[in-house]
This record gives sequence, structure tokens and C-alpha cells, in this order.
Amino acid sequence: MTEQSPAPPTPDQMPGYASQIPQRNILAALFAPVAGFGVSLSNMFKPMVTEQYPREPANVKPRFHGRHQLNRYPDGLEKCIGCELCAWACPADAIYVEAGDNTPDAQYSPGERYGMVYQVNYLRCILCGMCTEACPTRALTMTNDFELAGPTRAGLIWEKQDLLVGLSSGMLAPPHPMVAGTKDTEYYRGEVTEATDAQRDWVRENRPDDPSLDGTRAGLAKAAPVGATRAAQQKITAGARREGGAR
Ligand code: SF4
Ligand code: SF4
Repeated sequence: MTEQSPAPPTPDQMPGYASQIPQRNILAALFAPVAGFGVSLSNMFKPMVTEQYPREPANVKPRFHGRHQLNRYPDGLEKCIGCELCAWACPADAIYVEAGDNTPDAQYSPGERYGMVYQVNYLRCILCGMCTEACPTRALTMTNDFELAGPTRAGLIWEKQDLLVGLSSGMLAPPHPMVAGTKDTEYYRGEVTEATDAQRDWVRENRPDDPSLDGTRAGLAKAAPVGATRAAQQKITAGARREGGAR
């Protein structure tokens, strides 16, 4: 027969013990069993906060981790240097990168290499953001866009063209040379603020029909078209808004 261990002492049996829990007065003790109803009652008179998604776009927090974005420098060159650190940091093995060599005739990013192939597999990605922490050039960031449905499995692998941010004012579609007299360091330091006349002259000479030369919104959009997967996603989202009763 095994010997039973003694029962632990109650607080009254412990000399010098003083409870840190504040004692309730009589009124608080009386209403304690129904105090929970107070929370319900106070919420009954607050305005409704039901999100009308997909009828209206959902409001996510500013730091929400959504779809990735590949960024550009202010002259249009790509920030990605194809180093693959993002792919190595990814716990879900969701990123695939192949680097290409920049040449004087085809310079896509400052420095020696650029991200030639860039894929994010959203069947695997858990949107943790570790890839963005690993990126040395801030080429990779995350947007607030969480709409990542796809009609096929292949349609959930986003390619570089789907992830690359569009061209904005002052930019020129790559490839084109770096700003004269700069190295990648000047780009990292933010000392390049827009495409220069020398860069425009180079593009005019090598790609006279490049739509980004005119600098208009339409021209910039035409020079960096939305990728097929992103376009399919936009179509799905628009359809969901319509079926959800968008007004
Ligand atoms: S967010 Fe996380 S899971 Fe998704 S690609 Fe980046 S590191 Fe991988
Ligand atoms: S996104 Fe950043 S970490 Fe990934 S390959 Fe490009 S530069 Fe390297």
C-alpha cells in the first residue's frame, strides 16, 4: 500500500502569508455574479462594426503582412540584386530566385546582378515577413493586399512581373544605365532622386519606342504592364465585389 502525500497547507495555515488579491467591498461582492452583463449592455449601444467585405474593401491594419512587392529606385532601376537571402530566410521554402548579370547594354539594377527570375508560391507562403527582414536592399516589402485567391494551383505562383511595383513619375523603364558617376552605394543612400537626361538619351537611342519616355501615367503603365497572375487576381476580386453587391 502506497503512502499518501500530505495535503498542501491552506493560506490560513501558512504563518506570515498575506494575500495580494484586493478584498471586495460588500456592494462589489453583491454585484460580482452579474458584472459580466455590464460588458454586454455597454456594447449594445455602440455602432455596428461588421465589415461589408467583399462589397466594400476591408480595412486592415497599416502593418498587416499581405502580398509581397518588389520595389524600384526613383530612376526606375530595380532594387532586387538577386542575392537569394529572402529565399534562404523563408521557413516555408516559398521563394525562388535566379540572378542574372547586369551588362552595360542591359542594366536592370545598380551593381553587378539583378533578380532575373523571382517567384513567390502563395500555396506555401504563411505571410510571416521573414523574407523582408532578410532583404539587404529593401527590395522586398509586403503590401496590405490579402486577396490571393486563384483559379488554379499554378495561378498562385506569382512571378516577378506580378510582384514588381509599377513605374511612377520620374522613372524610366529598365534596362538603362545607372546615373552617371554613381555606384550602388549612392543608390542605397537615397542620393538618386529621378531619371536623368543622360539616362533618357540612352533609352531614346536604344529603345526609341519605349512608352516610359513620355513620362505620362499611361506611358509608364504601358511600359510596366501588370503580370498575368496579378491581372487574373484583379478580375477575381472585381467579380467578388460585384457578386457581393458592390454599389
Ligand atoms: S512571408 Fe514568410 S513564408 Fe512567405 S515568402 Fe516570406 S518568409 Fe516565406
Ligand atoms: S528580394 Fe532582396 S533578399 Fe531577395 S533576392 Fe532580391 S535583394 Fe536579395
